[in-house]
Amino acid sequence: MDRPLFLLGVLAASFAAAAPARAADAPVATIDDLVAANRILAHENVVDGFGHVSARDPQNANQYWLSRSMAPALVTAADILTYDLDSNALNATGRTSFLERFIHGAIYKARPDVKAVVHAHTPAVIPFGVSTVKLQPVFHLASFIGAGAPVFEIRDAGGPATDLLVKTNPLGDALARTLGSANIALMRGHGMVVVGTSIPEAVFRAYYTGQDAQLQSEALRLGGRPTYLNAEEASNASQTVTGLIDRAWQLWKRAAASP
Ligand code: MN
Repeated sequence: MDRPLFLLGVLAASFAAAAPARAADAPVATIDDLVAANRILAHENVVDGFGHVSARDPQNANQYWLSRSMAPALVTAADILTYDLDSNALNATGRTSFLERFIHGAIYKARPDVKAVVHAHTPAVIPFGVSTVKLQPVFHLASFIGAGAPVFEIRDAGGPATDLLVKTNPLGDALARTLGSANIALMRGHGMVVVGTSIPEAVFRAYYTGQDAQLQSEALRLGGRPTYLNAEEASNASQTVTGLIDRAWQLWKRAAASP
C-alpha cells in the first residue's frame, strides 16, 4: 500500500511543480509540431528529399529551430538544432546544417510576426517563378496569396553567376526584402518560401500554394482569362480559412504518422 501512495504523492507533487512551469513545457510540444510538420510536408509532396521547415523558439524570439541537413521525412526530435538569427547553430555538436538556413534567420529577423518558415522546391510553383505570369489566388484556400506572389530574382542580389542557393546572410536579407509583408515569395529557378504565424499555418500555406499553382496552370491552359480572387475576397476568405487550419492539420498529422 505504501508504494501506490508514494507514487500518488510523487504524481501530485509533479503536477504542482508542473503547473506554474507550463511555459517551460511549450518547447517540447512545439518541437513535436515541427517534427510533424517535416513529415506532413514530405507526405503531402510539398517537399521531397530537399526543402525544410523551421519554427521560431517560443522561449527566445532571437532563436529558431531547424533540423540538421537531412530529408524532412526522416526528421525526429533529436535532429532539431537551435540557431541564432544570423543562422549560427548553437548546439550542432558535429551535425551538419542546411546550406540555405539563412532563408530562415533572415526572415525571422525581418518579420517579428513570423513564427514558422517553409522552404520548398514544389514543382507546380516553379513555372510562376520563371514566367511573367504572376501566381495569384485561384481559390479560397489559397487566399493568403493576396495580390499575387512576389518573385525573388537572385541575380539582383548575388549577380549573374550564383548556384541559385540562398547560402549567405546578405542573400537571405535580400529574399526577406522581396517577401516584404507577404505570406509567400517565389524564388526564380529554384522554389518558394512560405511563412506563417504558427507551424500549422505555414504548413497549410505551403500545401495550398502548390495546389493553387497547379490549378492556376490548369485554368490558364483552358484558354480565356481566369478570374482570380479580388483583394476583398482574398482578405475575407483568408480570415475565414485561418479558423479551419486545424482540421487539415489533424488530418495530415494522422496520415503522415501512418505506416
Ligand atoms: Mn532550396
